[in-house]
Amino acid sequence: MSQPLLEVKELKKHFPITGGVLGKEVGQVKAVDGVTFFIREGETLGLVGESGCGKSTTGRMLLRLIEPTEGEVTFNGKKITSISGSEMRKMRRDIQMVFQDPYASLNPRHTVEKILEEPMIVHGIEKNSKKRKQKVRELLEKVGLSSYHAKRYPHQFSGGQRQRIGIARALAVKPKLIVADEPVSALDVSVQAQVLNLLQDLQKEFDLTFLFIAHDLGVVRHISDRVGVMYLGKLVELAGSEKLYEKPLHPYTQALLSAVPVPDVEHKKERIVLQGDVPSPSNPPKGCPFHTRCPEAMDVCKQVVPKFQEVEQDHYVACHLYEDNKSI
Ligand code: SF4
Repeated sequence: MSQPLLEVKELKKHFPITGGVLGKEVGQVKAVDGVTFFIREGETLGLVGESGCGKSTTGRMLLRLIEPTEGEVTFNGKKITSISGSEMRKMRRDIQMVFQDPYASLNPRHTVEKILEEPMIVHGIEKNSKKRKQKVRELLEKVGLSSYHAKRYPHQFSGGQRQRIGIARALAVKPKLIVADEPVSALDVSVQAQVLNLLQDLQKEFDLTFLFIAHDLGVVRHISDRVGVMYLGKLVELAGSEKLYEKPLHPYTQALLSAVPVPDVEHKKERIVLQGDVPSPSNPPKGCPFHTRCPEAMDVCKQVVPKFQEVEQDHYVACHLYEDNKSI
C-alpha cells in the first residue's frame, strides 16, 4: 500500500464573531473542529456532508487559502502549516484546486489560452512562449476540448466545458494532489458523469491524488477509494468506499445513505428521515454534535464527545455505540 501523500492532524478553523461598538469577539463559528485524516499517493478520498459542515473550509486549508486556527497539514513530508507565504506559493504547484463554479473562477476577459498559460508562467514551467502555447493545445485535448478553443473566452462555453477548462488549468502545473471542491454539483446529471469519468482517466494518466469534496454520497461512490463523512465541523466516519456503502456504522452516514437512490431494488433500504435542522456551528450541542437529530441517541451522547476511533481495520467512527466495538 502506498505512503500517505497528505496527512491532516486535528485541523481546526474557528472564525471569530464580533459584536458591540468596539467590535469585540463575542463568539466563534467552529467551521472545522479537529479533523484528522490522510490521503495515500494515487488514491481518491471523498469528503461528504451537508452544506456548512466544514468540508470546503477543510479543502481550502490544505492550500492555506484559509489559514487554519490550529492543527497540522503535512504534504509529501513537509509541514505546510508552518512554512512561509512564499514557500506556500511554490507548494501550490503541487496542490491545485478545482472549484465548484468554473465560471466564477475563470477570468471572463481572458482567452482560454491566457487562462491556461498563466499558472505555467507563475510557476516558471515553460518559459518559451511558442512551446507554452503548444502545451495549452495539448492540455485542451487531454480534457476533451479542441485546440481551436484556445482563442475563445469562458462565456462561449457550456458549464461542462468550463469545468474542463478549470481541470486543464489545474493540470497545467503538473500537480500531485488536486482538491476538487464540488466540481460537478453545478452540472446536469448527464454532464456530471462525463466530468467524473474524465477525472478518473486523468488520475490514471498523470498519477494524481484527489480530495474530492461533495454534498452527495451518490456522486463520490464510484470515484473514491475511501470516503469521509463530516457533520458540524467534525469527521464522523471514514472508511473504504465499499465498506462505507455496504455497512455504514454512524447513524448520520446511515441516514445520508438511505436517501441515495439504489438501482438494485432488492437492496433498497428504508429511508431514515432526520428530524430538525443542523445546529449552528456557532453554538454546537454539547456531547456528540449529532445527538439532537440522532435516532439512536443515549444519555451519554448529550454529555460526552465520542472519540473518532478505528473500530475495524481502516474504518473510523465517532459514536458511543461503537466504543469498545460493542455494536459491531
Ligand atoms: Fe447518535 Fe450517540 Fe452515536 Fe452521536 S454518539 S451518533 S448521538 S448514538
